[in-house]
Amino acid sequence: MAIAAELYALQEIDSAIDLARATLTAVEEQLGETEELVTARAAVEDHREALRALRESQRDVEWQVDEARSHVAAVEKKLYGGTVRNPKELEGLNDDANMLKGQLRLREDELLNHMVKVEEEESALRQAEAALKEVEGSWGGEQKDLMGQKKRLEAELVELEKSRQAQSGSIDGHVLELYDLLRDRRQGRAVVKVERGMCQGCRISLPMSVLQKARSGFDVVQCVSCERILYVS
Ligand SMILES: [Zn+2]
Repeated sequence: MAIAAELYALQEIDSAIDLARATLTAVEEQLGETEELVTARAAVEDHREALRALRESQRDVEWQVDEARSHVAAVEKKLYGGTVRNPKELEGLNDDANMLKGQLRLREDELLNHMVKVEEEESALRQAEAALKEVEGSWGGEQKDLMGQKKRLEAELVELEKSRQAQSGSIDGHVLELYDLLRDRRQGRAVVKVERGMCQGCRISLPMSVLQKARSGFDVVQCVSCERILYVS
């Protein structure tokens, strides 16, 4: 094969390698937990914590209600038990009983409020858990796809590297250096086709002498303007 054709074939392999590497990088960037998943999981944790705190303070209020009830019961026992007969003392006990009953009602109201809040929080937690389950489901599927793509791309790159080795093996070292330099400078296009006498890299019409040399294909011929290696197919 003429040198320009060899280099053109090498460039096709290198372009495929560049593309596979860029795709692999993009795939790897998408692997791992997404913000959506992290947020959904944090929401569940927040609701669990809020529910735990609410249940704890509900237990405190329940205890306060029990205590208030036993105070009421103790005073009423004295009041109606028959052991106290003094009217003034009885009046005092009656006042105490009324005050304690008032306190008990306040505590019972507080307890009801807590129970409502606990129910609301339980329902919010169930919703957050369902949302998390959904996000986890679609995330898991995506990650599986991405892992599959990663594996395919890695295998493809191994094959491409082998082809590159085979293709570049017979090309002279100095020519490869020039090719690498031009690929670097010209965004990966070191070798360009010549069509209708024009360099397809910079689109100038090439001088006849350059065209003739490029057609022979046995020497590396560069475009007089953009310096790319010319390939007449
Ligand atoms: Zn050119």
